[in-house]
Amino acid sequence: MRAVDIIVRKRDGAELSAEEIEFFIEGYTKGAIPDYQAAAWAMAIYFQGMSDAEATALTLAILHSGQQMNPRALFPPGAKVVDKHSTGGVGDKTTLALAPLVASLGLPVGKLSGRGLGFSGGTIDKLESVAGFHVDIPTEQFERQLREIGLVIGGQTAELAPADGKLYALRDVTGTVPVLPLIASSVMSKKLASGADAIVLDVKVGHGAFMHDLEEATHLARLMVEIGRSAGRQMAAVISAMDQPLGRTVGNALELKEAIDTLHDRGPADFSQLVITLAAEMLRLGGRPGTREELQALARIQLANGRAWEKFRQFIAAQGGDVAMIDDPELLPAAPLVEPALAPGSGYVAELRADQVGLISVALGGGRQKKGDLIDHAVGVVLEAKVGDAVEAGQPLCWIHANDGARLAEARRRLLLSAYRISETPPPAPPLIHKIIE
Ligand code: URA
Repeated sequence: MRAVDIIVRKRDGAELSAEEIEFFIEGYTKGAIPDYQAAAWAMAIYFQGMSDAEATALTLAILHSGQQMNPRALFPPGAKVVDKHSTGGVGDKTTLALAPLVASLGLPVGKLSGRGLGFSGGTIDKLESVAGFHVDIPTEQFERQLREIGLVIGGQTAELAPADGKLYALRDVTGTVPVLPLIASSVMSKKLASGADAIVLDVKVGHGAFMHDLEEATHLARLMVEIGRSAGRQMAAVISAMDQPLGRTVGNALELKEAIDTLHDRGPADFSQLVITLAAEMLRLGGRPGTREELQALARIQLANGRAWEKFRQFIAAQGGDVAMIDDPELLPAAPLVEPALAPGSGYVAELRADQVGLISVALGGGRQKKGDLIDHAVGVVLEAKVGDAVEAGQPLCWIHANDGARLAEARRRLLLSAYRISETPPPAPPLIHKIIE
């Protein structure tokens, strides 16, 4: 077999066999197939797509490029380990509140999370706002912490699905991220490698997501659910809106603060609702009895009674984080400049583009322009007005947290020009949860 023949076959629209896909991924992981051939292949997939059978074979090939964890071996027979994955969005700090909430109800959550990518933020970057917190966790600590406190969040390692690490970095710089089979195989190979029994996917759809329409997002969700099921996992997917940012904060420490508020039952309504919805799905797959409504009520109680917060404190301490900083979030990194962007006219917020707010946060220093850049945990945007809110001319639409005046001025200009749109009439209420696929 030759890599070039596989590229040509995909370029011309053929369906690749599992052997061809396995050959390509193995060669790429070992360095026998160079980046330029992998880039051409990814672009051929971008234009020609892949059948569901090809996407499944690609997932398994990426999975087999590395080791697989077996967390269920740590627990008595019958116990289930659950995991969750978001396809990426803006203001998406869901894992920070959801994982401790579910773990506090006795369902172990062992999870690998990512860093920010493009306009979308990453859980690991948000957690690293806490001094001392670390995510390079050897397998032995991962297992011990999962057994002892039922919650661990690590960064992606070279051991698990290494082909995804390489391929993802390549896709990021070759315009081949938003491709359904490549997203499905990237997400599912990592999820299968981390070995959970049950996986809940949060598939985002809208301007601030990789999938822009509901039909595409539904196809992606169904494909990932099928791939997981065929690998013997219990699966559910929630399709949620990502047209405007989730919650009211975008930026690492700002989002962490909002997650802390939510764990104290003071979170914004949309964010809290998503956390509760996903928690109920995780509990359901984890074998908890009750209807969806009962499980949601259980999750709500856990935010109100402080147990989810207590689990979060234990988890931060276990991974070396300074607990004083989360007990008093004023100690988290804070930007020296905080100024508003004022509404240019009166009316209603008709649109608040998540992708634009995400890019503005990156430009303030909250994300990376290129791989390996250092980020500024303090900067970002706090949204005062969201879609549907009535605003008066001159009232703050949002607050910009910046470290330098020029970047602040540019962020303000872009927020008013390309993120917010004000109309005279109120827009229809945007849905948060589009559907749940079981
Ligand atoms: N998240 C992933 O892990 N991979 C993708 O390709 C897109 C989102």
